[in-house]
Amino acid sequence: MIFNVPKGQIIYAMSAENSPVLTVKDGDTAVFTTYDCFENQITTEEQDFGRLNWDRINPATGPVYVEGAEPGDLLAVNIQKIDLADHGVMTTGPDLGVMGKSLTSNVIRIIPIRDGKAIFPDFELPLNPMIGVIGTAPASGSVPCGTPGEHGGNMDCKRIAEGSFLILPVNVPGALFALGDLHAAMGDGEIGVCGVEIAAEVTVSFTVLKGKQWPAPMIVDSERIIAIASEDDLDAAAERAVYSMAQFLEVEFGMDKAESAILMTAAGQLAICQVVDPKKTVRMEIPRWIAEKKGFQWDL
Ligand code: CA
Ligand code: ZN
Repeated sequence: MIFNVPKGQIIYAMSAENSPVLTVKDGDTAVFTTYDCFENQITTEEQDFGRLNWDRINPATGPVYVEGAEPGDLLAVNIQKIDLADHGVMTTGPDLGVMGKSLTSNVIRIIPIRDGKAIFPDFELPLNPMIGVIGTAPASGSVPCGTPGEHGGNMDCKRIAEGSFLILPVNVPGALFALGDLHAAMGDGEIGVCGVEIAAEVTVSFTVLKGKQWPAPMIVDSERIIAIASEDDLDAAAERAVYSMAQFLEVEFGMDKAESAILMTAAGQLAICQVVDPKKTVRMEIPRWIAEKKGFQWDL
């Protein structure tokens, strides 16, 4: 079955207390219509930044209850399709991003999207559409949608893109999955505080994975297997991304720590997803062909 989750149905925090807006079955597909991260409040470059409603930032559409997803399971989310709106928005300014301490005024850019490119005044950038905020409810408490963590959330990872499978933890019955904050393009780091922020329609399908001791969040795409970690600083995030991949290599292939360190140091790519959110996000990627040579199978 294919379901629709309209954009009016949003949350600003991921929590077990949120009421699901839709219930789907394991294997179903849903089309999420999303606002951009400013909830589409920015319409011109002249807009007064201070007058935005800052309570309406980083909305995620959902949550969706996936039948059969129980705490301890994993939820594999296949990102089948990302359809972008016809323009994106970018901002930076004082106290925003890596250089915010040296910026004196807010800047807004409206970026038209045409023929697979983001149209800047002096160049046209090929798109790399990706999902910024995507996750499940934490076991307890509530995590603002702007914050990444073990439940997913605002990971701003450019590998969360069309064709990839994102593997998330199930912490509460039904998982309570939500997504938003699409980017038409973004470089690793997201140093200015945003990507090319854009409204979108995102088609995903859900598969509940039982009895797997994999770390989460993880990504399986056509070329890589990726472990993602978000921590207060980059050093801690890097360490946990590496240990998460080691956990995957141990449970999947019985590799010990030394073997996995040899594999990751020779063939793994440690990369920064973002450095501008309340926690920083790092990923460790290994080539999928190496895992397949060891017997890894992915037939969802
Ligand atoms: Ca984001
Ligand atoms: Zn964003």
